Amino acid sequence: MTHRILILGGTTEARQLAEGLADRDAFEITLSLAGRTANPVDHPVPVRSGGFGGVDGLVNYLKEQEISLLIDATHPYAARISANAAQAAEQAGVKILALRRPPWRRQPYDRWTLVADAEAAVAALGSHPRKVLLALGRQELGPFETAPQHSYLIRSVDPVEPPLAVPNATYILARGPFAEDAEGALLVERRIDAVVAKNSGGTATYGKIAAARALGIEVILFRRPVLPAVETADTVSATIAAIDHWLASERGV
Ligand code: NAP
Repeated sequence: MTHRILILGGTTEARQLAEGLADRDAFEITLSLAGRTANPVDHPVPVRSGGFGGVDGLVNYLKEQEISLLIDATHPYAARISANAAQAAEQAGVKILALRRPPWRRQPYDRWTLVADAEAAVAALGSHPRKVLLALGRQELGPFETAPQHSYLIRSVDPVEPPLAVPNATYILARGPFAEDAEGALLVERRIDAVVAKNSGGTATYGKIAAARALGIEVILFRRPVLPAVETADTVSATIAAIDHWLASERGV
């Protein structure tokens, strides 16, 4: 008997998990993307794209597609879909597992200022003009328009349209991973004195954090949102082990 698995993705780990499960005869995998990125990277399993329509829409999808395992491998800051997934799994009677990267921990010489959101990051930058690297998603940039005194270097996967209504903004289109050396060179070359970022965890985007530490640059870091308490693994291999454990219990082994 094959089990249908829905992976909620949009992260490197979700893709790696799909790779790790794609050849398994016991599973039929679908990976779901929110559909925000114009040219998402290729995935080794069938992909569906776009929101489900809240909890009810996801419950319907789980039932219609006869999903027996839901894996929430979304980004740790994608709090709404994670909350929806936990509720929908409960309502549909479907097993749920989460794959979540542990947050980065403060190291000696890190100059971190922890904030709740973009508005609080703007307040933390202060009134004096600064040169700021914004390593954020497009949806989080709006509040920086209220602080036009700063110069912004904005790095994103897709173009920021429309651009921020501030006099000094430069845009870089890039998709990680970003190595520490190159991040350090960027911070020095652009004379950045503050980095604003999320505590994404993992290695792909840690380079800017390590480079900022080495250069004594302040990092204004968004706190992690509160996520639902479901069974959670923190690596791809631990998730595959948890799936195997679940499969064995389904088969009554
Ligand atoms: P969010 O605020 O938690 O989700 C907003 C809505 O987008 C959800 O209610 C859902 O719509 C839809 N959605 C989100 N993820 C989806 C998925 N994997 N498949 C289908 N629908 C999805 O999430 P977000 O911050 O917009 O993030 C969207 C996607 O980008 C996620 O897949 C996440 O892993 C990825 N991502 C996010 C970040 C970040 O910092 N937030 C960074 C990197 C990648 P409905 O309610 O209509 O179902």
